[in-house]
Amino acid sequence: MSQVPNAALASYASHSDQTRGRRHAEAPAPTRSEYQRDRDRIVHSTAFRRLVYKTQVFLNHEGDLFRTRLTHSLEVAQLGRSIARSLGLNEDLVEAIALAHDLGHTPFGHAGQDVLNECMKDHGGFEHNLQSLRVVDELEERYLGFNGLNLTFEAREGVLKHCSKRHAEELEQAEPQGVGHRFLAGTQPSLEAQLCNLADEIAYNAHDIDDGVRSGLITMEQLEAVPLFVRFRDATWQEYPQAKGRRLLFDTIRRMLSQQVYDVIDATRALLDQHRPDDANAARLCPPLVRFSQPMREASTELKRFLFRELYRHPQVNDTTARAKQVLSELFAAYVDRPQEMQPDFARREDLHRAVADYIAGMTDRFAMREHERLTGRRAF
Ligand code: MG
Repeated sequence: MSQVPNAALASYASHSDQTRGRRHAEAPAPTRSEYQRDRDRIVHSTAFRRLVYKTQVFLNHEGDLFRTRLTHSLEVAQLGRSIARSLGLNEDLVEAIALAHDLGHTPFGHAGQDVLNECMKDHGGFEHNLQSLRVVDELEERYLGFNGLNLTFEAREGVLKHCSKRHAEELEQAEPQGVGHRFLAGTQPSLEAQLCNLADEIAYNAHDIDDGVRSGLITMEQLEAVPLFVRFRDATWQEYPQAKGRRLLFDTIRRMLSQQVYDVIDATRALLDQHRPDDANAARLCPPLVRFSQPMREASTELKRFLFRELYRHPQVNDTTARAKQVLSELFAAYVDRPQEMQPDFARREDLHRAVADYIAGMTDRFAMREHERLTGRRAF
């Protein structure tokens, strides 16, 4: 049996036969490339299945049709692969990074990350990107030979999207020239990792409009304030003057997504032409190359600001956020007080605070609510 090569990879793409490898050496798989194998390991992981029941913006119990971390990750993978194919980048690596990029997210979305960071302020803090790396490097328990999923360097590099200087220095000490290095050296990650960052932004901007309108927290009238939205809604009306309601919304979002994908492809091609990186490593030394055009960058930022103001800070979302924060901070205190209430693997660990943070970060929304009720006798939602 032999591996089927990735079709039409550009020279600047990440080639799986040139991977910087895994932390624990493993023989190659007979039929799959290294990045296919990464992707498969992520899909079969426990943390990946938990994404079904983790909040993106709306809590899991608020409605069946809202995005969860899982469907968000699938949308990021779809957008990422689509763009990767056009640019000759490695689709398997893009898919692996996209599916793993939110594995470290806490229950209850960003509210959870803020609480855990606060609870951990004297114990090294908590940051969801770093936690995603911890999940794939340490916390998954699926192999006899090592902790974690033992992913390739390139997948791990993509998972660690942001990193503070302090955390980068710690990572560098544990793994010289490893995934923390670029944050100290000021270099870029692979083009596939850069692409996943942008695909993440394209995905959540679009689906948060959809979910926002579905929830009734934002209206089509409010969206008049967003030029990017108005542009594609008007294009829809040009073709279908009678369009209204849900189908008008979906068609507008569909057009907006397509145009953003084409914009990234065009802008990135132009930058690749200008910088001409010979290979994946040369691309890491260039400025960020996977980008929107300047006008699309501004339009996307404006949309983000709108969503921040009107949706993420909506009083109803704030109320949920406040309850979520209470649930997690009380859970944290309860486990620190009574570690035996956690699963034995966590209860036994010597680094108690980190063990509690890992345990809570891994929870789904509903498990966190159940545990909170069990330990405090109160129901927060
Ligand atoms: Mg994301």
